[in-house]
Amino acid sequence: MPTRREWREPLVRRLIDDHGGQNPEAIIERYAERLRQQAGQHALPVDPAVIASYLGVRRRRADYSFAGRILAEPNGQLVMDINQQDSLERQRFTEAHEMIHPAFPGFESELRYRLDASMERYAENREEEYLCDLGAAALLMPAELVAERYTVKAGMSDVERLHRDAQVSIEAAANRMVALSDEPAVMICMTVSHKPADRPALRKGLDVPRRLRVRYALASHLNVYVPRFKGADDGSVFCEAAVSSGVCSGTTTLPGAEHAGLFRVQAKRYGSDDRERVLAIARPTA
Ligand SMILES: [Zn+2]
Repeated sequence: MPTRREWREPLVRRLIDDHGGQNPEAIIERYAERLRQQAGQHALPVDPAVIASYLGVRRRRADYSFAGRILAEPNGQLVMDINQQDSLERQRFTEAHEMIHPAFPGFESELRYRLDASMERYAENREEEYLCDLGAAALLMPAELVAERYTVKAGMSDVERLHRDAQVSIEAAANRMVALSDEPAVMICMTVSHKPADRPALRKGLDVPRRLRVRYALASHLNVYVPRFKGADDGSVFCEAAVSSGVCSGTTTLPGAEHAGLFRVQAKRYGSDDRERVLAIARPTA
């Protein structure tokens, strides 16, 4: 599990205080686990609808401009709105995400809408949303049913198996598998894009080529930092995967983290058009 040192949002600080100063990631993981157990969901795929009904949350589906939200009505009734235009996978993850929000003390009295406008994984500085994504992953891919059964050793084939069994996106499956790994591993998500420093030139109308760049990376049991927007080297296994349809494997350094040494990498391209990305699982050779 990735751990952080400092949490700033008031609601997150209250959660920590209410749990005697424990790490909120562990608090949320336990909350999700309890919810799942109490709702009697003991096999994959976990059904968020059953959990919602256990919690007494009323679900509404319609066309919305956001992915989902949960709110407490003045009488205390929790209502969850889910965008029915999203893929079923995405709706499941959104539902699971929304069901974590009530874990935060004071949630019901706040009566504020929580909008999730995009499916992108929340940055860690959006603390409550980040923790709800973590809880959603824990709900849909419980450690008890995933750890040791789906492993980074098996690489992308286990990511795809978890994606099918848990009915979550490939990306969510890869994130969770690395988070639960009992050995050092890195998950890298890359897209063909510009970097922020390209913007002035783009505004001037210059033709700046796009490159395969790091969107984000997650590491387990490993102190390695793969910088955002770092480009992958031409001819690397990452670039090879960007133009292939299958899994590409190789032993290489990670973009911007050459000092961390060599990794066994499996990379594969998923999605299409603006949702196209290369996902990679990397394990250190030493
Ligand atoms: Zn949210």
